[in-house]
Amino acid sequence: IANVSTVVTERTLIAVKPDGVQRRLVGQIMQRFEQRGFKLVGMKMLQVSEELLSQHYQELRRKPFYPSLLHYMTSGPIVVMVWEGHNVVRTSRIMVGDTNPAEAQAGTVRGDFSIHISRNVVHASDSVEGAQREIQLWFHRKELMDWDCYDHNSTYQL
Ligand code: UDP
Repeated sequence: IANVSTVVTERTLIAVKPDGVQRRLVGQIMQRFEQRGFKLVGMKMLQVSEELLSQHYQELRRKPFYPSLLHYMTSGPIVVMVWEGHNVVRTSRIMVGDTNPAEAQAGTVRGDFSIHISRNVVHASDSVEGAQREIQLWFHRKELMDWDCYDHNSTYQL
C-alpha cells in the first residue's frame, strides 16, 4: 500500500480552447494551476490542424458531435500547456470540472466560466496514459522544460 505522503510526480496536458482564448480567460485559467502549486513545463499558442485534432480525439471520431467538435476546435487559436506536479492528472480534472458545464461544480473552470457542453473552455487529459500520449502528440521533447521550483519544499513534504 502506497504511503499517502508519497509524492507522485506526473505531467498533464491542459488546453484553453478557442472560446477560452476569445473570451480572454487564458490568464485566469493559468493562475488557478499556478496558485494550486503546479509547475508549468511547456506552453504554446497555435491554430490546430484537423489532422492533429483527429489524433488527439481519436476515441471520439465516430461520435455524432465529432464534426461540430472539429469545427469548434479549429475556429481560432488555442493555448496548450503541460503542467507538472503531484497527482496532477486527477487533480486537474477536478479543477476543470465535469465535461458538461451544467454538471460542473462552481469553483471549477467549467463551472465558473461556461454553460454549454459544446463551449466548455478547456481540455484536461483524463488519465496518466492519456496525458503521456497527448503530451507526445502536442509537444516536442525540447519544448518541455526541466526546471526546479525554488519553493518545492513548501509545496511538498521534505
Ligand atoms: N463534446 C461535445 N458534446 C458532447 C460530448 C463532448 O461537444 O456531447 C466535446 C466537449 O468539448 C468535450 C470534448 O468533446 O470537452 C471531448 O469530450 P470528452 O468526453 O473527452 O470530455 P472531456 O475529456 O473534454 O471532459
